[in-house]
Amino acid sequence: MSQGPPPVAIRAYWPEVYDFAFRASRVIRRVPFPLTISSWWRDARESRALGSSSTSQHRVGLALDLQPRERAAWPWRGARFAPAWEAIIAAARAEGLVPVDERNKPNAPHIHVQYGPAGYVDRGLKAGKLIPV
Ligand SMILES: [Zn+2]
Repeated sequence: MSQGPPPVAIRAYWPEVYDFAFRASRVIRRVPFPLTISSWWRDARESRALGSSSTSQHRVGLALDLQPRERAAWPWRGARFAPAWEAIIAAARAEGLVPVDERNKPNAPHIHVQYGPAGYVDRGLKAGKLIPV
């Protein structure tokens, strides 16, 4: 996850980022398990290194990745932790966000939670919004 503040270009999405952060904090409070945010906004270098789309909602601070803090909950350690993962998905939907189940990522299982439907940043670009270079 980027360590510095988001670049200026992300300010094009500031109202959405503000709303997203509010809803995401409610997701985290709704889930009755301690969570880690393993990724939030990503600069271009990080995005390339991760093989992430250049117009991923992570690029503008509108996606984050959540995982149960307790590594014993990670999937290959046993199905009894499935409720923690399912709780993240249900809480994201309840807050009007879009969860994507990435539990099967062997090195970094997570639930990706984004603000808008797929293509949200692409539509922003067409409407003249900037994304960080
Ligand atoms: Zn993600």
